[in-house]
Amino acid sequence: MSNSMETLSFFENVNRNFDRASQFTSHPKGLLEQIKGCNSVYSFQFPVRTSKGFQVLHGWRVEHSYHKLPVKGGIRYADSVDEDEVKALAALMTYKCAVVDVPFGGAKGAIKVNPKEYEVTDIEVITRRYTAELIRKNYIGPGVDVPAPDYGSGPREMAWIADTYAAFNPGKIDALACVTGKPVAEGGVRGRTEATGRGIFFGLKEACGNAEDMRILGLTPGVSGKRVIVQGLGNVGYHAAKFCQEGGAVVVGLAEYEGAIYNPNGLDIDSVVKHRKETGSILKFPGAKDYPNTLESLELDCDILIPAALERQITEGNAPRIKAKIIAEGANGPTTADAEEILLKKGVMVIPDMYLNAGGVTVSYFEWLKNLSHVRFGRMDKRFEQSAFDKMLHALEQATGKTFSESERNQIAKGADEIDLVNSGLEETMTSAYNQIREIWKSDSRIPDLRTAAFISAINKVATAYIELGIFP
Ligand code: NAD
Repeated sequence: MSNSMETLSFFENVNRNFDRASQFTSHPKGLLEQIKGCNSVYSFQFPVRTSKGFQVLHGWRVEHSYHKLPVKGGIRYADSVDEDEVKALAALMTYKCAVVDVPFGGAKGAIKVNPKEYEVTDIEVITRRYTAELIRKNYIGPGVDVPAPDYGSGPREMAWIADTYAAFNPGKIDALACVTGKPVAEGGVRGRTEATGRGIFFGLKEACGNAEDMRILGLTPGVSGKRVIVQGLGNVGYHAAKFCQEGGAVVVGLAEYEGAIYNPNGLDIDSVVKHRKETGSILKFPGAKDYPNTLESLELDCDILIPAALERQITEGNAPRIKAKIIAEGANGPTTADAEEILLKKGVMVIPDMYLNAGGVTVSYFEWLKNLSHVRFGRMDKRFEQSAFDKMLHALEQATGKTFSESERNQIAKGADEIDLVNSGLEETMTSAYNQIREIWKSDSRIPDLRTAAFISAINKVATAYIELGIFP
């Protein structure tokens, strides 16, 4: 390694990956600079009165790229957050949206606060005030900038944001489209909560389905039977673990901030979550070995490691000891550039964050479309489809003399519900995006990995948008 990437900031790490990939494109320097930088950074402080008394909090909204509008990205609630992190995450959102063909620019927001230290009513006050600050500067709106959940926030916060925005914009018919990840009853879409985890599973299914790539890794094709470790049992990690388990994988290790547990025979994800709720800790789960140093979990024996907590978990320090053959990046930025070089030399396949965790923004896009169209997916065509299938079955019965049973009929002649359509759109998106980036990776032996390929794909798509806008020749 030429210079230690451990000292690079998160945003510098992202830009280093960008620079490495841009060598495989032919775009002029100015255009690449325009794509790489953050178009707008709003850093602000705001006063709130909470149960802890009067406080001044710090917030950010970074809009990385206006090549497509609105811009889109989650809001992180964490006391460790800083401006560099928000810029890095906003940039990743631009590249992520491009990779999965979601027509948004990238953005990210943050509030420097540890939500676990506050009452629910405090979080509501903080969220509403943060939203008001965004409205004040036009950093939120259905056609401008559309936030979503991220680390430390969820559907509840998104409902408060939508309500605050609607209150400041009375009569605005598309107001609900100002934020995604809302509860279904507040304009959300079915399947959004679990979308990132489900998308990770679809991505893994596609990657593991390639027999040639699996042979190189010394693995058999398919997710089924693969031993998986997941770090972080939040929205992304829990759902990724759950869908992998349902897909036949064996979840052998789970890690939270208080420690990790490991059982080579498998851990039932819901039983572990129940145990943690009852005892306050993931540790001491029956049949599993405890690892009080949670970072050790990353080095335990498995086929697939899914870091789904925070950035910079796989570093130069622990990468040499990692045993997984596949790193499936659920979190944003969990692998440092130095660590990646080590993993690459060891022949590990890293499925990059900007592709693999794009399920959330993909289904957020569906939610935004639903809010703008003011109609639930499937409402217009479900019965029509059902009756068309019914007629087909009837014709088949007449032609063949076979009679379909009630359960066969129900299974075949089923019109699609919203959740069916969302999941089908998500699977199609994740599958075709994987094949796009894999094709780029395999098209030139100098392209070292899937991350570089994903960046090349994103850079080319954003560049095309700028060229089509007539901004660059
Ligand atoms: P979350 O707050 O729901 O969950 C994060 C979990 O990680 C928590 O349970 C937390 O206790 C745990 N954790 C924190 N530090 C840990 C450590 N050192 N070791 C083990 N566990 C630890 O957040 P989330 O929404 O699941 O987001 C997780 C990551 O995924 C973030 O990087 C986020 O940017 C990224 N992401 C989230 C979404 C989404 O739709 N929520 C989409 C794309 C990417």
